[in-house]
Parts: sequence; structure tokens; C-alpha cells
Amino acid sequence: MTVALVTGASRGIGRAIAIELGRRGFAVALNYRADDAAAAEAVAAVAATGAVARALRADVGDPAAVAAMFAELDALGPLSALVCNAGVTRDTLLGASTPADFSDVIATNLYGVVACCREATRRMMARRAGAIVTLSSVAARQPGRGQSNYAASKGAVEAFTRALAVELATRALAVELAPRSIRVNAVAPGIIDTAMTAELQAIAPDELVKRILVRRLGRPDEVAKVVGFLCSADASYMTGQVWNVDGGFKLE
Ligand code: NDP
Repeated sequence: MTVALVTGASRGIGRAIAIELGRRGFAVALNYRADDAAAAEAVAAVAATGAVARALRADVGDPAAVAAMFAELDALGPLSALVCNAGVTRDTLLGASTPADFSDVIATNLYGVVACCREATRRMMARRAGAIVTLSSVAARQPGRGQSNYAASKGAVEAFTRALAVELATRALAVELAPRSIRVNAVAPGIIDTAMTAELQAIAPDELVKRILVRRLGRPDEVAKVVGFLCSADASYMTGQVWNVDGGFKLE
């Protein structure tokens, strides 16, 4: 059985990715941090696709919790795909912010990705195959006000994603005789209709939509389809890139 782990899968984009991967035939582990009821509902939605689905509770910002989660994951079968989706925002103008406003965002959005990728690559290198997708954001290149912490975290995720793609390919060439295919890509969504953007949508809905070429917010399933593709063998020649799924954000 091919196993996929999706972090932050109890709602929003992560939930949609878990469902998409279930449809594509993966056994899906759904990570979440706090909301047991939402995670149980998401597991049921994935199981409804006919896939094996399991919830794994862990704070991805805690490396010990991540290591324990991967030990549990090993019981499901060999890991083929990792989607680093868990993310938080703490939008605040820097001068009014506390150190925790920055470090909490970095802990989940960057260190969480690093910790999960460390565990996943160890397993994928042993099997010579795998796909990793990280979630960036339009904010990495076009941040809004008060997003210095979030933009810094997502910019770092993009740089980390490229570096990891290079590292895995280089190691394969340098120390191995047999070929290895571990691909690493980032997906950068625009403004997607989830709990994360609820406040933003309430403040200035018309202003928001004016900045999007297709004149509407994105849906979680529209991001999930791209992530599902990148996790599949159909994306066998795609690595080390950032793929924008943003409806043409700020193109006019
Ligand atoms: P939501 O806030 O709707 O969901 C976030 C998910 O992440 C929840 O399942 C939450 O679980 C989980 N989570 C948060 N922190 C942690 C943690 N430390 N460890 C484990 N799980 C955690 O977010 P979205 O679905 O909107 O966003 C998903 C990803 O897409 C994020 O990385 C976000 O930055 C990115 N993105 C979103 C955009 C948007 O417009 N929505 C735009 C661009 C990028 P729990 O509630 O249990 O903590």
C-alpha cells in the first residue's frame, strides 16, 4: 500500500488534499494539532473515497512529536508522499508585535516543514522513491500588511524546497549506483476560501476579489488537485519548483 502523510489535514486545504490523495489510491495519514472532532470528520471524508485513512495528532513545530508521529506512520506502510500543509498566520505590524508572533509562525510554517521532511527523506531515500510537496503562499512574493512573519516563513519554505530537491538529486548522483527519484515541489496558493482567510474576507470582500484575475476566491479542492498531480507519477519530470495556484493574483 502506498502511504501519504498530509500535515494540517483536519480542515481547509489539507483536508481537501487528503481526500484527493485518497481518491488517487493512497492510504492517507491526516496530521492535525488540536481539533479531534474536525480530524475525525476529515478521516471519515477520506474513508468515504474507499481509502484507508488515519488521524495522527502532533504539533509539527515539536520535533520530538514529529518523530513519534513518523514512528506511528511506519505501521501503515512505506511512505510515498509527504504534503507539508500545516500553517498558521499571526498578522501583526512588526512594531506592534511580540517575539512570539514571529517565532510561533516560524515554528509551524518553517520548522514544521523541516522536521517532517527530515523524517520523510530518511524513509524515502531507503526506498529510492517519493514525492514531497510543501505549501507556500502568494505572500512569499506579494505580502499583505502585517505579514512580515508569514511572508518570511513562506519565502524560507520556497528556498528550503529548492535546496532539498537539489540535495536529494545530488546525493543520488554522488553516492548511489541505482537511480533514485525523490521529487520536491512547492505549491503557492492565492486567496483560498478557508478558516485562515475568514477574517480577511469579512473585512474587504470586494477589494480582495478585485485583485484576482478570475474574480473569485479559490476553493481548497482546486489546490488539492495540483498537489495530487505533483504527488503522482504523472509529475515524474517536475522537481525543485514553486507552482502558483492563485487565479492570477495581482496580474492587473
Ligand atoms: P486552516 O487554518 O484552515 O487549517 C490549518 C490546518 O493546520 C488545521 O488542520 C490545523 O489543525 C493545522 N495546524 C496548524 N498548526 C499546526 C501544527 N503546529 N501542527 C499540526 N497541525 C497544525 O489553513 P488553510 O487550509 O487555509 O491553509 C493550509 C496551508 O495553505 C497553510 O500552510 C497556509 O499557510 C497555506 N496557504 C493558505 C492560503 C489561503 O488562502 N487559505 C493561501 C496561501 C497559502 P488544528 O486546528 O488542529 O491546529
